[in-house]
Amino acid sequence: MSDLFNPQAADASVSGLLSPGPQELSDLLRGWRGSKPLLVCGGGTTSRCASDGHWTLDLRPGFETRSLVPAIPAIRIGGGCRMGEVLDHLATQGLTLPGGLSGLPGLGYVLTGGIGPLARTNGLAIDRLLQICGVWGNGDPFVLDRSDDRHWRALCGAAPFLGVVTEVSMATSPLRPLWIEQGSMPPADLPQRMLKAESSPDCESLQWHWAEDEQLRWLHVSQQPAASAVRIGGLHQLPSLSGAPSANERLHAEVIGLLGPAAATGWNDVMPALKRLMRSRPHPGCSLSAQQLGGATTLVPPQATAFVHRDAVWKPWITAMWPAGDLTLRARSLSWLEELWALLIPICPGVHLAQLHHHLPFHQRELRLAYGDHLEDLRDLKARLDPNGNLPAL
Ligand SMILES: Cc1cc2nc3c(=O)[nH]c(=O)nc-3n(C[C@H](O)[C@H](O)[C@H](O)COP(=O)(O)OP(=O)(O)OC[C@H]3O[C@@H](n4cnc5c(N)ncnc54)[C@H](O)[C@@H]3O)c2cc1C
Repeated sequence: MSDLFNPQAADASVSGLLSPGPQELSDLLRGWRGSKPLLVCGGGTTSRCASDGHWTLDLRPGFETRSLVPAIPAIRIGGGCRMGEVLDHLATQGLTLPGGLSGLPGLGYVLTGGIGPLARTNGLAIDRLLQICGVWGNGDPFVLDRSDDRHWRALCGAAPFLGVVTEVSMATSPLRPLWIEQGSMPPADLPQRMLKAESSPDCESLQWHWAEDEQLRWLHVSQQPAASAVRIGGLHQLPSLSGAPSANERLHAEVIGLLGPAAATGWNDVMPALKRLMRSRPHPGCSLSAQQLGGATTLVPPQATAFVHRDAVWKPWITAMWPAGDLTLRARSLSWLEELWALLIPICPGVHLAQLHHHLPFHQRELRLAYGDHLEDLRDLKARLDPNGNLPAL
């Protein structure tokens, strides 16, 4: 699967590739006798869409729907679409939806929550879902809407453990221009900058990327004109926060996403230790980034979806990187990630499970911190809907 965006997944020696169409998926899951779990590939951006010794269920060829629902401002999106293609398609109709910082991810972006630069006014991507269609891990097909509270809640944030989602319908909104500012700043300025962002109007958001010792890059997105800002047509034209990955070296990585409330003063307190850890990164590709949410995302009750950290205002994510095949540096980078995570836990106690890590020792801890009290109910559902563990363990 060398065409995958994620280099670790692209380099994997997979057991095989399955590309069923909508008619075959049910039978495939019902009768699956091969190695488990089956890995699902939507956009192909995470390390767990293909892996050594596993079969991958590739949704890209068979589930490419991208069609507007007539008369309702909604779009049907197939499990094989990338979000960038969806946003481009919508833009031609003067519409958009709450996309993220990149157009590369597929439906996994929506199913794991979907936090974007417009989240403070437009909500999370899951908050725009109108209908979810797919096949449970046991092979039973489903078509669900909000009227089925329990299953809806589980699918909105924990779908990858329970079923394969083949298509969703999402409410769209009118496309509006955005005003972008970008720059760099010394790490010492970060807490003050975050404090300012926390009290800014909901139509603005701050995201930052720290991958150098003494400078971090920031990207400010506003829905209102600003003299010093660059106007773009919408999220489909958003510039990259982190820049292009190194072309010289084949790099593998794991990413963990955290969630925390407004806490700029807490960031101030951890700054000395944070700077030390950033200076001791095992590889230059190891980084810490964050995006802002809050506003509209806090208005949905925590019990309505499996994205339970509705008080979150910041989503930092930690990237551990190493040259492909260098197991020593892999171990050092992952332990650096855990050290950084431990430092941030007091101010960011939640996890955003946007990437699955069922191959890493901290998977169970991530599940607890992602789903909290909801985890037991998800496990009950899993026992019924995926009793043979065709999909990743919960
Ligand atoms: C460059 C980049 C920018 C990003 N920016 C953001 C951002 O701004 N906000 C944000 O919230 N996240 C962001 N992410 C994280 C990303 O949205 C998640 O990692 C997401 O899960 C990736 O989805 P995918 O379909 O591309 O991944 P894949 O690797 O194809 O799949 C990811 C996981 O989701 C499961 N999955 C995928 N599709 C389905 C399906 N149809 N049914 C059931 N399970 C499925 C798979 O089992 C797999 O484990 C970003 C990631 C990248 C690489």
